[in-house]
Amino acid sequence: MGRKKGIAVLLAEPYKARNGTFHMKAWCPNCVRYHDHGGMDQGHVVAHCLEGAYKATGYYLKIDMDKPENVELLKQYKASKN
Ligand SMILES: [Zn+2]
Repeated sequence: MGRKKGIAVLLAEPYKARNGTFHMKAWCPNCVRYHDHGGMDQGHVVAHCLEGAYKATGYYLKIDMDKPENVELLKQYKASKN
């Protein structure tokens, strides 16, 4: 996990919910649990933490594009927005 401009970068795992909506879940080392974010737009987001350092700064979500299944999901997500 890296940092960008001093802000934490969390690795986000994209997935499609049973109802067909797109989400990302990111492991939060602050809360020691996953946070679920709607959509698959990478970048800076408001932290879903109840407390801790990320609340003030938010964090970046980054999808691992070396995984073919992630690339495929992102393609589906982009197509769904058109
Ligand atoms: Zn958190």
